[in-house]
Amino acid sequence: MTPVALNLGGGTNSVALAVEAVRRGLRIDVALFADTGGEWPETYGYLWGFAGWLERHGIPVVAVRATLHGVDTTLEEHSARHDRMPSKAYGRKSCSLRFKRDPIEKWIRARWPAGPVVRILGYDADEPQRARLTPDERWLWSYPLIDWRMGREECAESIMRAGLPLPGKSACFYCPSARPLEVNELADKHPALFARGLAMEAAARPTMRGRVKGLGSDFSWASVERSRRMQTALPIAREAADPCGCYEGARDADLAFTAGYCGQWAHDIEPGSGGEWPLWGAPSKPSAHQTSMFGRTP
Ligand code: SF4
Repeated sequence: MTPVALNLGGGTNSVALAVEAVRRGLRIDVALFADTGGEWPETYGYLWGFAGWLERHGIPVVAVRATLHGVDTTLEEHSARHDRMPSKAYGRKSCSLRFKRDPIEKWIRARWPAGPVVRILGYDADEPQRARLTPDERWLWSYPLIDWRMGREECAESIMRAGLPLPGKSACFYCPSARPLEVNELADKHPALFARGLAMEAAARPTMRGRVKGLGSDFSWASVERSRRMQTALPIAREAADPCGCYEGARDADLAFTAGYCGQWAHDIEPGSGGEWPLWGAPSKPSAHQTSMFGRTP
């Protein structure tokens, strides 16, 4: 059987995807969480509870970390070593690739050296433009939330129907994609983490040029800190979210479904009868095995 690996980010999308897999009886051999070392404490707490729930439903969870020169390294440590901010602040995305994508792929290659492996990603039906990866002889891609027409709202409802707590947004607490209001929320809830972000920004000041003003890329966390001290309006009102590559759609609308919802890990759901994961695209050089597995082309 072709191995199936889920990218578990710890946000609404990947959690809903795992819940739906159990509900529909679809096999997942491993749920992989790429730990940058910098998630919000709420996300680590959530994943602790959800991993227990998943294991009860037959899905093992593995946390993987980037290694640099053979040593487990967090993105914050890496940034401190080079007095730089995560690459997203400079308009690149290597922080996500190096600290999330690569550790996951390294783990999978070690576990299943021969391939192919079905990779389940949680892009939702509100963002089909992100489902761009084409399959090859190593990776077969599945974007089930899009096939199942599940947007953010439906993802949140799926988790609530299972009776489970809703996750928050998952991202590094110092993510340059965070908007001023989110940075302010961090400062309110976790002043020590806010201070670490400020220190990261201060150390990287010599690397800032042009439109890069600080850890928020086009605004600095120092300006957020100043506004807080002076109790003035927050610096830049960046209206539209500029999601990073790690973004998992957050719930941003009122939910119609709330009946009987209590949000406890004790809730179990009856596994469904099973089926095939929907696969996208066609491999460049299909093997006989892959050809037999392919569903439809979007
Ligand atoms: S959440 Fe932000 S800082 Fe963290 S890896 Fe992703 S893009 Fe980089």
